[in-house]
Parts: sequence; structure tokens; C-alpha cells
Amino acid sequence: MSRPAAARINLAALRHNYRLARTRHGGRALAVIKANAYGHGAVACARALAGEADAFAVAIVEEALELREAGITQPILVLEGAFGPDDLIHASTHDLWMVVHQAEQIDMLAAHHAARPLTVWLKMDSGMRRAGLMPADYAAAHARLSAMPQVGQIVLMTHFARADEPDAAATAEQIAVFDRATAGLPGARSLCNSGGVLGWPAAYRDWARPGILLYGADPMPSDDHGLTPVMTLESAIMNVRNLAPGEALGYGGRFVAEVPTRVGLVAMGYADGYPRIAPTGTPVAVDGQLTRVIGRVSMDMMTVDLTDLPGAHIGSPVELWGHTVSVNTVAQAAGTIAYELLCNLKRVRREYI
Ligand code: PLP
Repeated sequence: MSRPAAARINLAALRHNYRLARTRHGGRALAVIKANAYGHGAVACARALAGEADAFAVAIVEEALELREAGITQPILVLEGAFGPDDLIHASTHDLWMVVHQAEQIDMLAAHHAARPLTVWLKMDSGMRRAGLMPADYAAAHARLSAMPQVGQIVLMTHFARADEPDAAATAEQIAVFDRATAGLPGARSLCNSGGVLGWPAAYRDWARPGILLYGADPMPSDDHGLTPVMTLESAIMNVRNLAPGEALGYGGRFVAEVPTRVGLVAMGYADGYPRIAPTGTPVAVDGQLTRVIGRVSMDMMTVDLTDLPGAHIGSPVELWGHTVSVNTVAQAAGTIAYELLCNLKRVRREYI
């Protein structure tokens, strides 16, 4: 029997979430499948969406090449753009779209001998202050790129810092800054990440760029947006034992039983990607019933409270996150975000359904 720890990945749910984003936003949507599709397996996710996604986005050229090698033919946008001339050669050879976010990349393009014109997504820093051309420099950069034989289409884009906060004036300001600085410039526009798609109709333009929502992890979980979780991280109870009051459990003896406590040992640990920092009390489901993590998460195993689940036994199924316990809930308990938990998934096998 194989170890029961697995990430079960529902590709129909992925397609459902993609369609929901595309329909809600209108226009076209590129599916952001960087970081191994946020831990879900980039090739499998790209194949599952190949029939309907207008394009894909990854962070780096290597991720795009992996998709091309797997036979993915849709356009692929490289969000970090080119780091060196080799990246531009790959872009030409493999028909990759490149984000340009700084003047140095424009210089690099100018020196590049392209076999065919590249599609460029020109990124503006409309307020996030992380990457992108400043609004005052944007039109000149656009003019320079437009004049280059190496460059074909130019898509105008910016990225939101706080789109998952529905009332953030900062997002409204980013939209206004972007619109002002792109007024009159030709080309399609793209503003919305998942938060934008779900919360900012005022930012809908030609292209959406949903990432986290594709995987059913809602960036604004206080409202039900109709997303379906794609990943269920599951395992099983490997052992059951009883603690007497006063007995301490696991590394550091952090959990001390106050009452007779039935403990289930689960085949899952931080080497699999479950966060070590998840404290006692983090929700977990055994046999579909909610209970809690107790004691410290170890490298390969962790312990859960079965005191109120007398029917639970060796072999009982455990859901670490998925439908009964959302990945957002675990992330909140661990002081992080769903993005990090999903990308950090490591040793568990992925099973596609
Ligand atoms: N667009 C850009 C430029 C990004 O960098 C990202 C991810 O960081 C996304 C879209 C997708 O964001 P999200 O996963 O929040 O939808």
C-alpha cells in the first residue's frame, strides 16, 4: 500500500473556475500557471485548460519551456520578462510573450535580432511600487517599443497591490493612474488579477490575468464567488493512542492533555508542505468531521484530536485542506496566505481526477 498522503486535483473544478473568471470579466483571460500552477502541476493544468484558455502566464522562461516541451501551443506570457539575451532567443524560438517592466529590458530588446516580432506586455507601475515603468515614462517607452522591428503587438498592463480589499481607494487610484497614462495609446489593456476579476468591474478591459482563483482559493473569502476548490490535500490516520491528563505530545511537548485525549497520527508533515507553524487548534477533517491539529507538526507526520470522534480509526481519511477545511482557513491559522501553502507543496504525489 502506498503512503496515503496525496494532493487530489480536480481538473474539472479548474476549468469551472477559469470559465467563471473569463465570463465575469469578459474579453480574454490568460490562466496564470506559474510556480507549477500554484503547486497543482503546470503541465497537467495547462493540458486541462488547453481547449479553452486564451493564453497562459508563467513567471520565468524555464517554466514556459517546460510547457512548450509538453506540447502546449497556446501563447505563453512570461511575467518577469527577459533577464538576458538568451531569454529573448527562447522567446523568439518558442513564441513567448514577454513582460517588459524596465528600461534595461527595452535596451536588451533593441540589441536583439528577432526572427519574428515579439509580443510585448508593457507593465506600468501604477502605484504598487514594485516593478513597472513609471506613468511619466510609459508613453515614451511605448513609442520606443512601437518603433522597433523586433516588437509586434504591445499590450498595456499594470498589476494591483490591493485588489483583494474591496474598499481600497488604492486600487481605484491605480486604475485612474493607468487610464490617464495610457490615454490615446493603441493596444489591448490588462489590469485584473483574481482580486480584480472578483471585486473590480471598473478595471475590466481586454485581458484578465487570474491566478489564485483558478485553484478555487478565493482571495476575498467573505463573499461566495462560486469558486470550487481544486486541490484536496489528504492523508489517513496511521495510528491512534490515548493521552492521560498531564501527558505532553510530540516535539517540545507543546500540547499537554488536560483531559483524556485520543490522538490520531497522520501521514503528513512539513516536508510534504503542511505548514509547521500551524498551531494546535488548526482545523482538519477526519472522516469528513471537523477536528483540530494538536501538538507540533513534524517533518513527516502530525497529530490530530480524535477525542470527539470515537469512530475514527487507523485508515480513516483525513483532509488537511480542500472542501471541508479551506486552504484559506489553514493559511490564516498559520499566519500566511493560500498562495504560499499551495506553492510549497512538496513530497506528496498529485492525483488528477
Ligand atoms: N498578473 C501578474 C502580473 C502577477 O504577477 C500575478 C501573480 O502574482 C497574477 C496576475 C495573478 O495573481 P492572482 O494569483 O492574485 O490572481
